[in-house]
Amino acid sequence: MEENNKIDIKSLNLSELEEFILSIGEKKFRAKQIYEWLHIKLVKSFDEMSNISVSLREKLKECATLTVLEIEIKQVSKQDQTSKYLFRLPDGKMIESVWMKYKHGNSVCVSSQVGCRMGCRFCASTVNGLDRSLMPSEILEQIYEITRDTGERVSNVIIMGIGEPFDNYDNVMKFIRLLTDKNGLNVSERNVTVSTCGLVEKIYKLAEEDLHITLAVSLHAPNDKIRQEMMPIANKYSIAEIVAACKNYIEKTGRRVTFEYTLVDNQNDSDENAQELSALLKNKLFHVNLIPLNKVEGKKYNRSKNQNITRFKDILERNGLHVTVRRELGSDISAACGQLVAKNNVT
Ligand code: SAH
Repeated sequence: MEENNKIDIKSLNLSELEEFILSIGEKKFRAKQIYEWLHIKLVKSFDEMSNISVSLREKLKECATLTVLEIEIKQVSKQDQTSKYLFRLPDGKMIESVWMKYKHGNSVCVSSQVGCRMGCRFCASTVNGLDRSLMPSEILEQIYEITRDTGERVSNVIIMGIGEPFDNYDNVMKFIRLLTDKNGLNVSERNVTVSTCGLVEKIYKLAEEDLHITLAVSLHAPNDKIRQEMMPIANKYSIAEIVAACKNYIEKTGRRVTFEYTLVDNQNDSDENAQELSALLKNKLFHVNLIPLNKVEGKKYNRSKNQNITRFKDILERNGLHVTVRRELGSDISAACGQLVAKNNVT
């Protein structure tokens, strides 16, 4: 929470902020005012907090940092209403986030780490490994800066950008609580989705959090052998363990679980694979989201042929599964799943 002995003020919840304000000899009600400036009015500096005295603002500058991200590059898709932002973090490292406009609202896809150490063989985000995890403030600020830039409210948040959210579990939970706080941006818990490559202990832990968010699990294979070829994490957890953890999540929360399945040509897209997956995921509260692979330069995997995508979907549906095919938004600006990269080597 602290960097150079300064408190990261945007990562504090209201009661922590109250404690902090009391600890520097100020009145408790100031915390609520500051919290509003940070999380509702989305100011970028202490000096904009006009109902806070100049002396308190100076004191805050001395003992707290106000994390903001700078837009380094913004790319706007020509084919749909998607934009990709390359953000510069306070320490100069870079991450990407994606803004998507839908009829039912605006979504932001946020990153949770600079890089990733999961090593999925089809994903660009993991190529340079993990640099560091993001603070709650740095995840929040992706949404705040996009809100400032577009002037539009964000209603849906998906934690599916760079990084493995459950490899940064505590900060991601804190982020979700700040994001959905009634005293803050107040995004509905139901409109938050967290996607994991399947860290089983953390799936059990999430079930105990009393959060009504959607859990998405990157499965990508109907059996352990194929999964191990695609994802190193499959050597640690079996599909059976993941499915058991997801059933527990459903029992505890009443929420359905989405399984993401990236379709790769000649790897996991045969009729037999579809049948095996159907047997595995036949459950009213399981949902399958098929993702046509987005080609990543230098990776051997290719996108499934269109007729195979359709056939795969048909087989699952005939077997009674709930299936959707993810729209490929923003692929012209490399904003699609698995195409986001952390550019670390910035001068
Ligand atoms: N680490 C988390 C979230 C980030 S990835 C996770 O693994 O779920 C978001 C989704 O995009 C995951 O399902 C991921 O497996 C998928 N993905 C990664 N690379 C992809 C690619 N090249 N094409 C399509 N989907 C990809």
